[in-house]
Amino acid sequence: MGNTCLVSSCEFHGTSEELEDHTDNCHYEALKDYLQLTDARIGNLQTQLQEKDERLSFLTNMLGKLSERVEALEKTMDDKFGKDVVLGD
Ligand SMILES: [Zn+2]
Repeated sequence: MGNTCLVSSCEFHGTSEELEDHTDNCHYEALKDYLQLTDARIGNLQTQLQEKDERLSFLTNMLGKLSERVEALEKTMDDKFGKDVVLGD
């Protein structure tokens, strides 16, 4: 048992004397604002990343359907006009 440093992320614990000593030198105390800001930034990035993941899989899905349709269309064109017809050239 002992006292635990109150600064989040800091895992220091010891006797109340040790804690008093520690509080003056707590590296996390000095970094507290920076760590909070960094946490918020990472949270934002995770949200953005997830949105991009969702958009990416939506686009990938749509691209798959589109290429199926293009292939079917090409086959129809081949059947109608023969194999020499090239789309886009
Ligand atoms: Zn601490």
